[in-house]
Amino acid sequence: MYMPKQKNCKTIKYVWVLLLVTVLVCSVTGCTVLGREPAYQNARVHIVTTVFPPYDFARNITFGMEDIYIQQLLRPGMESHTYDPTPADILAVQHCDLFIYTGGESDAWVDTLLEAADNPEMQVLRMMDCVETLEEESVEGMSAGHSHAHHEDEAEHAHEDHDEIEYDEHVWTAPSCAEKITEAITDVLCEMDAPSAGLYRQNCQQYIEQLTALDAYFDEIVHSGARSTVVFGDRFPMRYLCDAYGLSYRAAFPGCAEESEPSAATMIYLIEKVKSEQIPVIFTIEMSNGKIAAAIAEETGAEISVMHSCHNRTAKEAAEDATYLSLMYQNADALKLALAANLE
Ligand SMILES: [Zn+2]
Repeated sequence: MYMPKQKNCKTIKYVWVLLLVTVLVCSVTGCTVLGREPAYQNARVHIVTTVFPPYDFARNITFGMEDIYIQQLLRPGMESHTYDPTPADILAVQHCDLFIYTGGESDAWVDTLLEAADNPEMQVLRMMDCVETLEEESVEGMSAGHSHAHHEDEAEHAHEDHDEIEYDEHVWTAPSCAEKITEAITDVLCEMDAPSAGLYRQNCQQYIEQLTALDAYFDEIVHSGARSTVVFGDRFPMRYLCDAYGLSYRAAFPGCAEESEPSAATMIYLIEKVKSEQIPVIFTIEMSNGKIAAAIAEETGAEISVMHSCHNRTAKEAAEDATYLSLMYQNADALKLALAANLE
């Protein structure tokens, strides 16, 4: 078939212009050139969170509402302290309407990202601004840890800044703090999307009621407990929880320290503590190898139990659609056994 040369040329030109426009549109809106449109593309409100708790709070606040897309950057099973954003994650943050992050050392990458983000409309909520933060502390028997420093240069940096006060970033671990964060998210959403404010407020109120019931459940367990000290053969991310109910704790490492090898002194201290006070349960945290707790349990006969910090869900928990509430109720029941007089 004969095709005039000129027409062919025009077609090619047309295709190029189309491709260029596509690339431009994509770079502005954040979709990949060859891939599918990201799921958030047509959302009226696009919310991005780093860790699981604010993702779950936002799901509750926007319950039953249409065209809202909530995205958690940490995929199920990802460890929050070693996470680095992918290019797609960066585009998602740059495109979103509301970005919620923790504000501690584990997401120090956020500052660089926000500085580079060219999105003046974006609202940013830092969870550590929503509650009264507690200092990360070292309690008796603990091995010192370089908290959250997962890169070598950061580890050095943490060592240099040894005297600097560091605040514990696990601000969602107490139900009362979860309430404050939920209210703060609701306030931002109501401001951003005023016509839907009534719905956000209504959902918020219902969810706060559930958080208050959780808070009362913990309160009752702690009050009827025979003891008030918990022992973690692991890192200790539950500072806010213990503080809320007046529990004291002993642990191998503070916060979310990177170390997994405690000192011999720490092991001896924790074993003696469990033995002398006949502590029935030794805690480990989710996604941990549990080796320290296992060693202490072997020496003392204590039961091993998991306290879930809720940073993120495992693939299995996500498939079962575990929620902040379901994970925290599991924690409460685990705590109940841990505060019992003796091993049952
Ligand atoms: Zn952490």
